[in-house]
Amino acid sequence: MKKLFALAAIAVAATGVQAQDFPAGKPVTLVVPFAAGGPTDKVARDLAEALQKPLGTTVIVDNTAGAGSTIGNAKVARAKNDGYTLLLTHVGMATTPVLYRKLPYNYETDFEYLGMINDVPMTLIGKPQLEAKNFKELRDWISKSGGKVNLGNAGIGSASHLCGLLFQTELKAEMTTVPYKGTAPAIADLMGGQIDLLCDQTTNTTSQIEAGKVKAYGVTTLKRLTTPALKNIPTLDESGLKGFQVTIWHGLYAPKGTPAPVLKKINDALKVALKDPDFIKREEALGAVVINDKRVEPAEHKKFVQSEVARFGPVIKAAGVYAD
Ligand code: ASP
Repeated sequence: MKKLFALAAIAVAATGVQAQDFPAGKPVTLVVPFAAGGPTDKVARDLAEALQKPLGTTVIVDNTAGAGSTIGNAKVARAKNDGYTLLLTHVGMATTPVLYRKLPYNYETDFEYLGMINDVPMTLIGKPQLEAKNFKELRDWISKSGGKVNLGNAGIGSASHLCGLLFQTELKAEMTTVPYKGTAPAIADLMGGQIDLLCDQTTNTTSQIEAGKVKAYGVTTLKRLTTPALKNIPTLDESGLKGFQVTIWHGLYAPKGTPAPVLKKINDALKVALKDPDFIKREEALGAVVINDKRVEPAEHKKFVQSEVARFGPVIKAAGVYAD
């Protein structure tokens, strides 16, 4: 019995020392559940850079894409809970629990919440060959298409999927959805004319809109955006889709059971990164707003995600879309 206590004490001490030493010169891996070059990846790479100094170690990005983020999310849920593997993902954390009948993780019990990063509006964009000059003409074209319009997305559970779902519901129009592993490959196909439409974060679409490589039909905020390249794009609300509003948020997570001192170190570093002027400037140039409110606190982050599950759950259920 005495020996058992002694062993337990050594184990606790060892964990304590490890947590104390974190990050002990080892790199931290940020898993991004979407393809490289897309909006989630861009936020992750910018954040990785801003985190390195306050965290005191290298932060590398690992794109584990597919199945609307659920493969990457599951990878982190199963990863060693030592702080060296983290997840950076978006609203999919709140939509996948509603959309998937079975998920290999539980969004409430398999993760430690580490704080939120940014809010990003979306844009509805079309291939350059589209004749529609504005949203009204686009809407007419869609209603005459008989479901043949190809709408890209990053899989069931992605932000582009959510936006597309709400868009089809509002228009009462069916479209043919084309899933990708992220919206980097989707926007490449849109520019090439292989698909017709895509709803994606401004962090991925701003430069293509500015360069005239895609057509912009609307933004998903109630007010027009102030980013120079986007300020002349009408809101979908003002174009007739009353109340249409989708903002995509990103957050940071660790596997459940990561030691508290490690979580605190990461959350402290995140708060420093979110105040980094370079990080803020880069995000703002792409229409994103860096979070500067109580949602940087883990408990508030979790509460917010739970409220998003409650908000989107009924809408998604009403649309009757499920994945296995
Ligand atoms: N923007 C994508 C989405 O629709 C994901 C990505 O490629 O980052 O969720």
